[in-house]
Amino acid sequence: MSEVITTSAHRPVPTPFEWDQGFWDAAAQHQLVVQCCAQCKKVRNFPRLMCPHCRSMDFGWLQASGKGRVYSWSTLYKSFHPAFVDLPITIAIVELEDFPQVHLVGVLRMEDGMTEADLCIDMPLEVVFDDVAPGIAIAQFRPVRP
Ligand SMILES: [Zn+2]
Repeated sequence: MSEVITTSAHRPVPTPFEWDQGFWDAAAQHQLVVQCCAQCKKVRNFPRLMCPHCRSMDFGWLQASGKGRVYSWSTLYKSFHPAFVDLPITIAIVELEDFPQVHLVGVLRMEDGMTEADLCIDMPLEVVFDDVAPGIAIAQFRPVRP
């Protein structure tokens, strides 16, 4: 489902919490998961300790395919942090194919000479993972090749 993309930038690394450790553990294995309430079975997006629907503190994780579609995007041309110097960088809001209620935010890899002009709403995407530190991988997305 995924491939390793390495980065030379020394970017800030996420610090997992008790309620999102499962997400980061899966990402380290290049798997995309979403948090699910163990009581009411509704997806919790973003991961959190207490279910916003039934207030249960119990949760589990559901495997996602990693497929999605462009919901929206923005391209940054100016860096506001010294670790982000490879510009421009496009950030997308991605609607997951198998969990359309989940919208993830991530870097959109512009491959094969793509530019922002090649993007469109609903463009099919797939997840890729950027191994940024030992045990920490960041989900990113790229257009699905025809
Ligand atoms: Zn619940």
